[in-house]
Amino acid sequence: MIYKGYEAVVGIEVHVELKTKEKAFCTCSAEYGGEMNSKCCPVCLGMPGALPVVNPEAVKLAVKAGLALGCETSEISRFDRKHYFYPDLPKGYQITQFYDPICKNGEVKIKTSMGEKTVRIERLHIEEDAGKLKRDGDLLIIDHNRCGVPLVEIVTYPDMIGSEEAMAFVNELRRTLLFAEVSDCKMNEGSLRCDVNVSVRPVGGTSLGRRCEIKNINSVSFIGKAIDSELKRQTDIILSGGKIVTETRRFSETKGVSERMRDKETTADYKYIREPDILPLKTDREYVERVRGEMRALPCEIEAELIASGVKKEQAELICSEPMFADCFEKVKLSASDIPAGANLFVSDVIPKMTSGDVYPSVEAFLQCLHMYLDGEVNIVSARELLKLCGKTGESPRDLAGKHGMFMLRDEWEIMRLVEEAAEECESAVREIKKGKLTAKKVIVGQVMKLSRGRAEPRAVNEAVDRYFQ
Ligand SMILES: [Zn+2]
Repeated sequence: MIYKGYEAVVGIEVHVELKTKEKAFCTCSAEYGGEMNSKCCPVCLGMPGALPVVNPEAVKLAVKAGLALGCETSEISRFDRKHYFYPDLPKGYQITQFYDPICKNGEVKIKTSMGEKTVRIERLHIEEDAGKLKRDGDLLIIDHNRCGVPLVEIVTYPDMIGSEEAMAFVNELRRTLLFAEVSDCKMNEGSLRCDVNVSVRPVGGTSLGRRCEIKNINSVSFIGKAIDSELKRQTDIILSGGKIVTETRRFSETKGVSERMRDKETTADYKYIREPDILPLKTDREYVERVRGEMRALPCEIEAELIASGVKKEQAELICSEPMFADCFEKVKLSASDIPAGANLFVSDVIPKMTSGDVYPSVEAFLQCLHMYLDGEVNIVSARELLKLCGKTGESPRDLAGKHGMFMLRDEWEIMRLVEEAAEECESAVREIKKGKLTAKKVIVGQVMKLSRGRAEPRAVNEAVDRYFQ
């Protein structure tokens, strides 16, 4: 969006909860929800004398996230303390990686109506989450269950112009992290949260204006709305001769605009020091390569491969929108000789069942159906019907096709018998054919298809009709 000749320049910080079983520095469960304050111990409650121990699973998932985003990994990274007071942070500081993050210099490729673009990632580091404050009438309740849940924070450069690019970035980042299996990335449960930094400048400018940060936005469409409303607010201030104050704001979902929270903190405010209780973290090349070996292809790679095999762009995008779809189709693809036909059937008849929570056919059943269709044993209508039936009953498509008489009719004698029957029923067409008007053969072919309820194999029917009138 452009507003009064101005555009928004956007950088994003994304917090992603890693899906470890245990918390970052203790063995409490990191699972979402549960009874309040039921998943905490002296370490995550910051009791005196309690000592943190790094959870190796969190390190591994952070490395996976970094690799999926094309980052360099550091052989040695370190932990620091970021000090601030907040009631849901009992230690009075957060353990993070400020000076030496585990990953740096990655990128995410996005596609928008303006074309393709690369958004650079400055850094990715491990840190712990804080607890949650809940209001209950007059009471403010502190729930510490989330204290110490491992996060990665991903920080981009201010490479995005306007809301469309920012939304495309978050969508692509989310999809990439889902495929890397590092997080469930549920924005509604807060396992993926975005802070958006916005400044404005005249369209096409190169300098960066003073920025405001809008904290904790929890849906992609709100990110778009927050950026658009911030573009208007800042532009109006500048055009009326005012100055932008660097500050932290929050987005009001009900009002659709951001509101001031506080002046933006500076690095000095946090008084970062090295975390004295945790040794430097070593992730050497051998370790990183081992982790890389466990990872599947990235969605953008699978998508490009599908398109190259002749699958329609929208279908490839849909298949690569969820790891479950891509995995399922990957298994199909291995043995299907006709990938585009498989993708057609998969997108129209399997994905809708997967997303509606319906029972969907197994990979084996889907493959059998696809091959029966590709080999001309059943027509497309029957193939789709079979996919529906085998999802419901669990019987094999081949058995079901036999039971419901869905196999294509290819038997020469049987087809010839139908041609004879059709010829008796369509006397006028027969007379025309005998006069030499060969196009009337179509009438006979059509009648045979009707008599066979669409099951007769079209080529066999055409041949039989030709033979009948020779
Ligand atoms: Zn704990």
